[in-house]
Amino acid sequence: MRREEMIGRIRERQGAAEPWDIVVIGGGATGMGVAVDAAARGLSVALIEAHDFGKGTSSRSTKLVHGGVRYLEQGNIPLVMSALKERGLMRQNAPHLVHDLAFVVPNYSWWEAPFYGIGLKLYDLLAGRYGFGASKLLSKEETLERLPALEADELRGGVVYYDGQFDDARLLVHLAMTAADHGAVLANYCPATGLLRDAEGYVNGVTARDEETGEELTLMARVVVNATGVFTDSIRQMADANAEPLMITSQGIHLVFDRSFLKSDTALMVPKTSDGRVLFVIPWHGHAVAGTTDTPVDAPSLEPRPLEEEIEFVLETAARFFARPPTRADVLAVFVGLRPLVRAPGGGEAKTSAVSRDHVIHVDTSGLLTITGGKWTTYRHMAEDAVDHAITLGKLPDVDCPTKNLRIHGYMENSAELEALEVYGADAAQIRALAAAEPALAAQLHPALPYIAAEVVWAAREEMARTVEDALARHTRALFLNANAAIAMAEPVARLLAAELGRDDAWIAAQVGDFTALAQQYRVI
Ligand SMILES: Cc1cc2nc3c(=O)[nH]c(=O)nc-3n(C[C@H](O)[C@H](O)[C@H](O)COP(=O)(O)OP(=O)(O)OC[C@H]3O[C@@H](n4cnc5c(N)ncnc54)[C@H](O)[C@@H]3O)c2cc1C
Repeated sequence: MRREEMIGRIRERQGAAEPWDIVVIGGGATGMGVAVDAAARGLSVALIEAHDFGKGTSSRSTKLVHGGVRYLEQGNIPLVMSALKERGLMRQNAPHLVHDLAFVVPNYSWWEAPFYGIGLKLYDLLAGRYGFGASKLLSKEETLERLPALEADELRGGVVYYDGQFDDARLLVHLAMTAADHGAVLANYCPATGLLRDAEGYVNGVTARDEETGEELTLMARVVVNATGVFTDSIRQMADANAEPLMITSQGIHLVFDRSFLKSDTALMVPKTSDGRVLFVIPWHGHAVAGTTDTPVDAPSLEPRPLEEEIEFVLETAARFFARPPTRADVLAVFVGLRPLVRAPGGGEAKTSAVSRDHVIHVDTSGLLTITGGKWTTYRHMAEDAVDHAITLGKLPDVDCPTKNLRIHGYMENSAELEALEVYGADAAQIRALAAAEPALAAQLHPALPYIAAEVVWAAREEMARTVEDALARHTRALFLNANAAIAMAEPVARLLAAELGRDDAWIAAQVGDFTALAQQYRVI
């Protein structure tokens, strides 16, 4: 993917008589899923993203590909079944990025084993042929064998079950590449600035601004899809200033620790924390990630900040389960995401954790099609639903959705043999070739993290990374794993990017300054 080429293709169409079949606003999981689906059906599609692809919620999830054990408790069986099926399809189509993972629910009371044991059997059952493995009751010894770091005092046993895990921002990059492979045009750093309407008042295009050059762009469209997550209402209000808000937002934080807190490849699942939520501690890229919280927030933001009480809550909950309780000093990074939740008709939910995680398709009287809510796990199904609606709305060719069996860019079985480059799948060979051709590119950028210089060059050349933040937050996950290490990597990364993108020393200095300031928010002091 080359940004200049993508913007060029948008510019070319501006004067052409043919509008795009679909223009998507928002380059998170939802919008990128729509771009993949539409392109794979042979429709012409352009997607514009205000920042880097995945800058919003889609890089800040708990990294689970799951049916959602918690939604079972809420009795939302259709959501769980559909998500379990999608979980299976995600692993089938992107085996380099999605894996199964064993989760242990430890039991400290006599009633927990039968209670969770039965619930998890139902979870297995609902997965049907998309199952990841049978759940099973564990003795105390077996529980400790799987999770040696667990507090052994008063432990009675546990239940093990299987779910999926992934790298969210990397999957997003690979979805972008899949969409591009099928002919989609994608532009990052290109916010939608307004909606255009035809003589009858129907939305028939979008105006956007190229943030790098200031150029104003016009994208005429048969259907405009609004996939802007927590920003959904701001786009709807471009079409109708009086549009009733659809969204409510809650934030969730995650704390990242050294892997020694888990000491194994098994995740810990706490089904009921003191505030009634689920808490996970999962192994991820050689670290342990603990989260999440569910705190209502008033206004959406691209860089939400953790609240002190959220940090304390995750630390306290984790401390109850680990023989060595983690402290603030052990936190290598904190990251925060905002859930795009759809208001129930009439609104007024007492708790955001009780709001449905189903997705919603909404068509405004202006014809603007909004898709929102849902989960990362269900992105494909959401996209299918959105494009089906767009086909009707825009009188587009009625082509069947092919994504159930569509391989995601980089598809590779047995990718574990790629070790630190596993997330690139088939592209890893080209990154290795870069490193082999130029030994400086084989250099590790920081001793605490496995990333090498060639990955940054690759991100700039092929994945449309534009800034130090893009390279360190999403194309590699350095910022999400270890904020101090990421800060130390900023200057060498800026130099590598400057060489690729033709930037000068002033750009390098500004990038290092901006990134260092941002990364402070990912540290817990
Ligand atoms: C804490 C937390 C944990 C979660 N964990 C999981 C999990 O483990 N598994 C799971 O399946 N799901 C999980 N989810 C849910 C999942 O992450 C979200 O449902 C999903 O990422 C939402 O994607 P989206 O594309 O709708 O939103 P986003 O990713 O936020 O994308 C919207 C995009 O629109 C862009 N945008 C906004 N305004 C404009 C504009 N004017 N022009 C152009 N672009 C614009 C934004 O920059 C943004 O990139 C979690 C969510 C949270 C908050």
